[in-house]
Amino acid sequence: MARVKLTDVTKTYDDVTAVNNMNLDLKDGEFITLVGPSGCGKSTTLETIAGLTKPTSGEILIGDREVTNLPPKDRGIAMVFQNIALFPHMDVYDNISFGLRLRDYPKEEVDERVEEAARFVELDGMLNRMPDEMSGGQRQRVAIARSIVREPDVFLMDEPLANLDAKLRVNMRTELQRLHKQLDTTIIYVTHNQAEAMTLSDRIAVLNTGELQQIASPLECYNQPNNRFVAGFIGSPSMNFAMSTVGEGRLETGGFDVDFDIAAVDGVGTGDRVEMGIRPEDIYLTENSEDALDPSDPIGVETDVLEPMGDQIFVYLKPLTAHDDTGMGEAEQREGLLMSVDPDTDIAEDQSVEVVFDRGQMHLFDADTGDALSHGVVKGTAATTESGEDSAQVD
Ligand code: ADP
Repeated sequence: MARVKLTDVTKTYDDVTAVNNMNLDLKDGEFITLVGPSGCGKSTTLETIAGLTKPTSGEILIGDREVTNLPPKDRGIAMVFQNIALFPHMDVYDNISFGLRLRDYPKEEVDERVEEAARFVELDGMLNRMPDEMSGGQRQRVAIARSIVREPDVFLMDEPLANLDAKLRVNMRTELQRLHKQLDTTIIYVTHNQAEAMTLSDRIAVLNTGELQQIASPLECYNQPNNRFVAGFIGSPSMNFAMSTVGEGRLETGGFDVDFDIAAVDGVGTGDRVEMGIRPEDIYLTENSEDALDPSDPIGVETDVLEPMGDQIFVYLKPLTAHDDTGMGEAEQREGLLMSVDPDTDIAEDQSVEVVFDRGQMHLFDADTGDALSHGVVKGTAATTESGEDSAQVD
């Protein structure tokens, strides 16, 4: 295992900047996921670490060695790709051992390493199978075993589960976690799937348009997103956003107004435009709101479409009356918010209900830059109870 460090790595192709000034410092043995939408520079970043792409500028360290200009074979890395490239005419043993045999390892050592790797991915007993006699998941495990036998310092994995069906993806996700725990190797994993990133990683690096937006633990990205992009990308279903105006002690969001203490949020004053964010799981029906929430300032809304998911119901909410005290035009106003409630909740479509936002989980973003201004707000001082139950965290 080894530490991996990227310093100011940039990669440009003619007029496209695929990776812009990337700085990453990954610890020994860490499982790091590069996540972001298609085209954000994940694969290019991974390829610069692998040595498959030469950065336009910047420096890459693996362990204590600078590898920026070294060929892939001298970097102590192994890669697993989305497209499982097994040799179709070779059985599992030959596929796994191919790299070792190429390097003239003694036969006993090859046997030993192949058997150990096959045991690891639970393919022992299948060493004589041909790739076309195996399922997609088994073939992907052969590819992983082939990289394990080389005993790399760093595993690089580019969407290795992308071509597997949904059930297998979840199984393989667990296997990768087990693999990481047992091998104790640094793993850099690329995916556009935020659920995969959340479940697998020690830390997530969220990328957008070639730039690092945040690198932090999954929970930190979820609870304290650096900006609106991370807030919208991490979490499923996505955070609700509403362009809002800061009024006198109120956030005016076009029908979902919330009372809050402006003075407690640095850099925000009356009349400012901000973007409010609240996750579906942080909106409660007033009657279901937990003790920690203050139901004394409910928001009257109307339910729209319901989506029963089995373990929860997604409820689309629309404002009771479309009004325009936000300074926004009609078209700009909120169309609705998504709330998630327990599956046994008594709720129907086109019903008037009252909801409360968990103010401690409300996020405010700069309307222009999208940078986070606050994670959590508190109720206006005039209305705050003496027990101080609005114990929101304000950054
Ligand atoms: P991701 O893996 O996040 O989908 P990539 O790293 O593949 O993104 O690509 C980042 C950007 O760089 C994209 O705009 C892509 O079109 C561009 N790009 C990647 N490889 C090349 C290449 N060989 N030539 C030109 N542009 C490229």
